Amino acid sequence: MTDTGNASAADRTGSVSGESVVFRGGTVLTMDDEHGVLADADVLVTRDRIAAVGQHLPVPDGTTEIDSAGGIVMPGMIDTHRHMWQSAMRGYGADWTLTQYFVWYYLEHGRDFRPEDVFAGNMLSALESLEAGVTTTVDWSHGLQSVDHAEAAVEGLAAVPGRFVLAYGNIQAGPWEWTARPEVQGFLRRLRDAGDDMLGVQLAFDVTGDPSFPEKAAFEVARELGLPVTTHAGVWGATNDDGIRLMHENGFMTPETVYVHAASLSADSYQRIAATGGTISVSTESEQSAGQGYPPTWQVRRHNIPVALSMDTSVWWSGDLFSAMRSTLGADRSREHLEAHAKGATVTHTRLRAEQVVEWATRGGARAIGRDDLGSIEIGKKADLILIKNDDSPVSFPLLNPYGHVAFQAQRGDVHTVVVDGKVVKQAHRLVGADLGRVRAAIGATVDHLRSTMGEPSWLAGMNPDLPAAEEVLDNPYTYTDYKSASTRTARGTVFGEPRSHG
Ligand SMILES: [Zn+2]
Repeated sequence: MTDTGNASAADRTGSVSGESVVFRGGTVLTMDDEHGVLADADVLVTRDRIAAVGQHLPVPDGTTEIDSAGGIVMPGMIDTHRHMWQSAMRGYGADWTLTQYFVWYYLEHGRDFRPEDVFAGNMLSALESLEAGVTTTVDWSHGLQSVDHAEAAVEGLAAVPGRFVLAYGNIQAGPWEWTARPEVQGFLRRLRDAGDDMLGVQLAFDVTGDPSFPEKAAFEVARELGLPVTTHAGVWGATNDDGIRLMHENGFMTPETVYVHAASLSADSYQRIAATGGTISVSTESEQSAGQGYPPTWQVRRHNIPVALSMDTSVWWSGDLFSAMRSTLGADRSREHLEAHAKGATVTHTRLRAEQVVEWATRGGARAIGRDDLGSIEIGKKADLILIKNDDSPVSFPLLNPYGHVAFQAQRGDVHTVVVDGKVVKQAHRLVGADLGRVRAAIGATVDHLRSTMGEPSWLAGMNPDLPAAEEVLDNPYTYTDYKSASTRTARGTVFGEPRSHG
């Protein structure tokens, strides 16, 4: 593979749609400080920036017009934690627990991933982001066993015209070991000094709570290189309050630190995070099914800690922040109801609003990665925008509550247009210029490699974990009841042509 680690934005694929693009007549969620919602409004993009927002905007000759009537124009979403290399194993671990994930990736098969496998997974995941309206993705890249793997990770991202942050990690060595390697530091310096607006860089490692705090050396490297750290914190059975305390006591908790999950922490840890200004990246679908702890927004809100959203890994879930918004609302409200029920009380007014999760998916992510120029639709900001509009879908109307529509009604297939850095990368529901055949072939080769390396029994066992001991079915005193449903219905007519009879 060629080294494209220094690829500039101009080298990337994707359409350059003239100098200007205008979204016409949409409902615009600005996500600015006032959370302005503009009806029948236009957004003009000139080169890589938002040039104007308002009604009936005059635009330069040759501007690409995108009819946004009936749709929602909003900032591109930002996923603050995804192990993009794992997309090569899409869906394989659907029935895993976190323990099974650790065994498979950390202990048994993570080493089998070659640089070309990281390349393939990253390229697929990057396309998956754009397709779902995620314009910036933090690649929590902890499969980087060598700098060759890291080069391949960057190459996979550079093949796709999205915005990314490479969070460099390596689960096959202690963070104090791999961060000390001169070639790793050289790679990180090179990426940092390239100053590529489309590719940020961070360090990604976890803090086990070992009292000798061996991770201190890795934090010192991050500080010396001037790179933020992202860490899985508050993961049941893996990382806990001790890790937070050690980070805090040693002065490594800073506003740019991102705490992923933070799902099994005490109030004391939340207070340390709140006081030092970091962000919590909540991966609700992950926390709900893998077992890191209860999705923490219901607690985090009370500590006033900034929140961002993430999808974690496509080995279980998909890189789709609509799912993240939906599941986060559900988990938060579910907990609020249950906490009230336990006291014999009823929640009559729900606290977490759809508007809030839309903010977490946009501005929350921008804050987490230190990008003030992303996450809202304001003049002068970077033009990372999406249009949610699907005239063929009965779910597209009526559009009454735009935030509620985004959080509970819309889905990735409704993402009509995606603009990143002023370039149209998805248009009329299709990725522009994406060679899916090439990606499919690369992924196929990775799957073949892993499957043959593991052997068929191991491959199948990994995908189909044993069930725990059979669950006893409880006695049911009502099983004698026989329901017969009424079978007559009155047709009011049909929109499919001839009325049909029901029976
Ligand atoms: Zn993770």
